[in-house]
Amino acid sequence: MVKEIIEGKSVEEWIEGYPLLKRIMDTEETLWINQKVTTEYEDTSLTGQDISDASERLQRFAPYFEVAFNETVKTNGIIESPLVEIKNMKTCMEKDYGIDLKTMLLLKCDSHLPISGSIKARGGIYAVVKYAEELAVKHNLLSYSDSYTVLDDPAFKQFFSQFSIAVGSTGNLGLSVGIISARLGFKVTVHMSADAKQWKKELLQSKGVRVIEYQSDYSKAVEEGRKQASSDPTCYFIDDENSKDLFLGYSVAASRLKQQLEEMRIVVDTEHPLFVYLPCGVGGGPGGITFGLKKEFGGHVHCFFAEPTHSPCFLIGQMTGLQDQFSVQDFGIDNRTDADGLAVGRPSSFVGKEMGHLLSGCFTVQDQRLYTFLSELADREQLYLEPSALAGFFGPIQLLSHHEGQNYLIKHNMQGKMNNATHLIWGTGGNMVPEEVMEEYYQKGKKSIR
Ligand SMILES: *Cc1c(COP(=O)(O)O)cnc(C)c1O
Repeated sequence: MVKEIIEGKSVEEWIEGYPLLKRIMDTEETLWINQKVTTEYEDTSLTGQDISDASERLQRFAPYFEVAFNETVKTNGIIESPLVEIKNMKTCMEKDYGIDLKTMLLLKCDSHLPISGSIKARGGIYAVVKYAEELAVKHNLLSYSDSYTVLDDPAFKQFFSQFSIAVGSTGNLGLSVGIISARLGFKVTVHMSADAKQWKKELLQSKGVRVIEYQSDYSKAVEEGRKQASSDPTCYFIDDENSKDLFLGYSVAASRLKQQLEEMRIVVDTEHPLFVYLPCGVGGGPGGITFGLKKEFGGHVHCFFAEPTHSPCFLIGQMTGLQDQFSVQDFGIDNRTDADGLAVGRPSSFVGKEMGHLLSGCFTVQDQRLYTFLSELADREQLYLEPSALAGFFGPIQLLSHHEGQNYLIKHNMQGKMNNATHLIWGTGGNMVPEEVMEEYYQKGKKSIR
């Protein structure tokens, strides 16, 4: 179903302007380098102050998280994930792909974030608690200096039950928003796209969340959710395509990562670049984190986004400047992928515009490769991630073996520094996947031929 005219141009004209598009439309694995990337961080419509505000808000909520979610006690109510070195996996990738990574390969285990087991535990939970705080303060039930443990009292649950929250999701955002909203006492509705896994729907229903299922993809679920919520003045819709709150919730990861790197005595500076590879759906998660990382590390950090070959919406939006004025289906790409967290056909234009000058590039990955990474990571490191969460693993391979990757390193005067570089893969989800589902994924990875 290729659309004839996309923003005034035929598909042939788009391909003429951006030859890489042909390859992307053929769903072949692609590396695209952003020529517009600038080295230094600058405030945009959002600032470093906005990130600090978000960080302080999460700090205020930490005592609440400790009482409401037992698993956050060991981090004093801070929802954060481990950063680990994956030496065996590194060796395996070097052997399989004939590359030499030279220095350290790290995995950021958002797969093991408390409460909802994915990167969405950053943005989704932040957006909900921000709304809860606003309501409680406005109604004179809470002040910023109170201990927020009171929010777990029945009186607060009663209060929040007058309000509802809705969200559209391919699964993980629904899990994070659903779990925290239900716990606070809100009425919550999750509009799920066809890609959403059955177990995610059932888990939410078991927590009293209303789940509405759609036969179509993520954009439709968001659109319907937005429409239904707009007719209800007591309903707050968390809009994954436009939310600054989600974005800022994600951005807080950066200063915490900086601290983790320091604890591991890993230096990031002019001579020691940091390369970060982040799975991307609509763009909010990887975008918010990149925004924060650029604020912390400026030109010393290089961020690349990873998408499935069948859902390369962020790549196309950035490359062509179309932002959200198209869907991948317009270019004849079906948006069908096993990477359910990344099954998005239209990117966020808000995030797209924020990213323009911060993003180093995007690459796409075949589904089968995700399964291979999955079983290899399980075998070598005993770490179990969901398919979407493995997309970043192809990043260092592409950067070091693709000629466009080499050109990037040359252009940014990076070649002589690769011995001192750190590669960090953002592992975005996995530990809530039921065992039998994970076993199926693992077997698919085992069967594959490289
Ligand atoms: C949502 C999600 C992402 C990407 O986040 P976006 O904000 O949609 O770009 C990556 N990995 C997993 C596992 C996710 O659930």
